[in-house]
Amino acid sequence: MSIKNNLLHIKSTLPENVILVAVSKTKPVPDLMEAYDAGQRVFGENKIQEMADKWEQMPKDIQWHMIGHVQTNKVKFMAPFVSLIHGVDSLKLLTEINKQALKNNRVIDCLLQMHIAEEETKFGLDDQELTALLASNEFHELKNIRITGLMGMATFTDSQNQIKKEFMHLNAVFKKLRSTSTSSNLDITTLSMGMSGDYQLAIECGSTMVRIGSSIFGGR
Ligand SMILES: *Cc1c(COP(=O)(O)O)cnc(C)c1O
Repeated sequence: MSIKNNLLHIKSTLPENVILVAVSKTKPVPDLMEAYDAGQRVFGENKIQEMADKWEQMPKDIQWHMIGHVQTNKVKFMAPFVSLIHGVDSLKLLTEINKQALKNNRVIDCLLQMHIAEEETKFGLDDQELTALLASNEFHELKNIRITGLMGMATFTDSQNQIKKEFMHLNAVFKKLRSTSTSSNLDITTLSMGMSGDYQLAIECGSTMVRIGSSIFGGR
């Protein structure tokens, strides 16, 4: 199967309201161009430098999503062009994104990353941390960021039940946030969950944005 065929096949299986992020990390520009030529305009990368290099070389109507962990000191390299940052999990990082967005005269869309998996990881907020962040005065003063939703990754497991439980939980948090959000820098529309191995389940559980890499571009 070619990249084009993989892409068109996956797109044909997605409901209309679900956005496909083609995760192109580690793949060379010609591979991305094959997807671009087949109509894909949203690409996901997990390293800021690699994303910036590809942004420079590729057509300017591409929407670049940062899906990986973001180091505060590197935000400035993507602030001029990034379209959505998925992995935001601290007020400190949001504050830096806001600062760099202001410098570039932009409002940068962000998703808050939630920790839903069983695995121990440093990344992602729990429910209480999410509530505290959104309630803080500092957050309300950030005018150059907009929180457009939540992102999460399920446990790496064969247990469909476990994954489903985690996705359903994230969807519940998402729905609650959508119905209660009042701050002017919140506009909750997007639930980013699901990768090559679990995106169908994620969509059943309410995902509006799937991040798919290896099923389009092959293994890494
Ligand atoms: C790499 C990556 C993906 C894509 O994973 P595949 O299994 O190749 O589809 C999705 N989300 C994040 C955060 C990633 O780092």
